Amino acid sequence: MAAKRVLLAKPRGYCAGVDRAVETVEKALELYGAPVYVRKEIVHNRHVVDTLRDKGAIFVEENEEVPPGSIVVFSAHGVAPEVHDQAEERNLKAIDATCPLVTKVHQEARRFARDDFDILLIGHEGHEEVIGTTGEAPENIQLVDGPDDVENVTVRDPSKVVWLSQTTLSVDETMETVDRLQKKLPLLQSPPSDDICYATQNRQQVVKEIAPECDLVLVVGSKNSSNSVRLVEVAVQAGAKDGHLIDFAHEIEEGWLDGVETVGLSSGASVPDNLVDDVLAFLSERGFGDVKEYEPVTEKLTFALPRELVKDMKAAASAQ
Ligand code: SF4
Repeated sequence: MAAKRVLLAKPRGYCAGVDRAVETVEKALELYGAPVYVRKEIVHNRHVVDTLRDKGAIFVEENEEVPPGSIVVFSAHGVAPEVHDQAEERNLKAIDATCPLVTKVHQEARRFARDDFDILLIGHEGHEEVIGTTGEAPENIQLVDGPDDVENVTVRDPSKVVWLSQTTLSVDETMETVDRLQKKLPLLQSPPSDDICYATQNRQQVVKEIAPECDLVLVVGSKNSSNSVRLVEVAVQAGAKDGHLIDFAHEIEEGWLDGVETVGLSSGASVPDNLVDDVLAFLSERGFGDVKEYEPVTEKLTFALPRELVKDMKAAASAQ
């Protein structure tokens, strides 16, 4: 039997948008003191949410749960314009941690709606990002939830239709949806630039490359994290014999490792690397001490903190 080994995918874990969102809550807690309210999970990861809660963040579902005059941070997934309006009505100080790459999709939606296009938004029903983007132009946007949903699409004018997408989808499945849409609507326009973000694309590409060599691919991530769920799907479709999504190392079932020689390991865009280290330690204790990191792409992107927060941080620094 060949030696047991781990192929560790890189890039994995935190993307620039998640890094910014988590830092936004941390800095807000430092600057204004606890509690800081956060509307929805700041990013879709149990560990991150629990850690911020321990530091004084209070997670709520809607603005109406936030006492008037308080600080509220909007999550990386973005919000509909009405959420900003509600915050203003309640006299909340809102800090918007929406990922700039989600904001880009919002801007596209507004622009095409202004030109009275029908917008076909490829995404998953009920996902917060989809709800936020749809809120930019509810009259013009209809959701297309995967290739099989294409048959339900109807548009007003087939020469004025564009597709946009959620940022965290499977690249391949989205292209299949677009192919089917184009067959139905030959004049369908494409977004000016990719909506599926660089982090989603990179993590999928790396997993796709290592998957054929893997008996098992483990992805660290939460079940409500779209990009993490997609990574497991991509791994299995690309040839991994088995694949599982886990929040924590202790969720790995011993039986998954039976007869396994090569384990592929990656993590979703909202996962801190200490959780991956825990999985490596778990695997090492079971003979998988040979770890090879595979990094065909490097990521350097970072985003500045939200403007409203930076302004207050500067004011606080100059008052000292
Ligand atoms: S996954 Fe992509 S869109 Fe989402 S927060 Fe990260 S960089 Fe932004």
